[in-house]
Amino acid sequence: MTQSELYKYVTAYFQATMPAPKTELHYNSPFQLLVAVRLSAQCTDKRINMVTPALFERFPDARAMYGVEFDELLPYIKSVSYPNSKCRDLLAMAKMIVDDFGGEVPEDIEGLQRLPGVGPKTANVVASVLYGAKVIPVDTHVFRVSARIGLTVNAKTPIQAEKQLEAGFDESIRNLAHHWLLLHGRYVCKARKPLCDKCGLSEQCIMHNWASAEC
Ligand code: SF4
Repeated sequence: MTQSELYKYVTAYFQATMPAPKTELHYNSPFQLLVAVRLSAQCTDKRINMVTPALFERFPDARAMYGVEFDELLPYIKSVSYPNSKCRDLLAMAKMIVDDFGGEVPEDIEGLQRLPGVGPKTANVVASVLYGAKVIPVDTHVFRVSARIGLTVNAKTPIQAEKQLEAGFDESIRNLAHHWLLLHGRYVCKARKPLCDKCGLSEQCIMHNWASAEC
């Protein structure tokens, strides 16, 4: 199977099994998604969804978080990873959104990346989920799954993987592809013990076929 055929095969599989994938983070506005994505770095969505109800009730938007003291915000997020740096980022982010963007989350990747604590991956995730940006943010799940299936070849960094994936998946489905690979990695193609016997991609998966041949 050529790379192009592999991409078509994977696309067809996910279109049939996961036609409308969504982020598992809970949010009710662009600001809340941005906060949730920033908090989710090196933390689980499950944990983030445990802390955001109280956080968003007290600080529903950037104006509500504007000018708040560090010690007032920290208790709401103290159970997530790296709470101190994330707390500083959220406060600075809320300030810039109000001061520079009229209280609204910017809609373009360049504007998003100007916000404190928002790197390329966070900006791409937010732009993809909210605005359907034609990008494929690569997190640890996407990186691992893509390499195992064979969608990426010798990609050493998330940026290299992102370029290969964006070249392989049609523009119209790139924002779906991010969720497909992420959710497949979270629930099936797990890091330590991939559930190959439950995986519908096993017939063409490079890693699975290689491992089977070794046995
Ligand atoms: S066959 Fe196994 S290694 Fe390949 S994608 Fe499926 S779960 Fe992952």
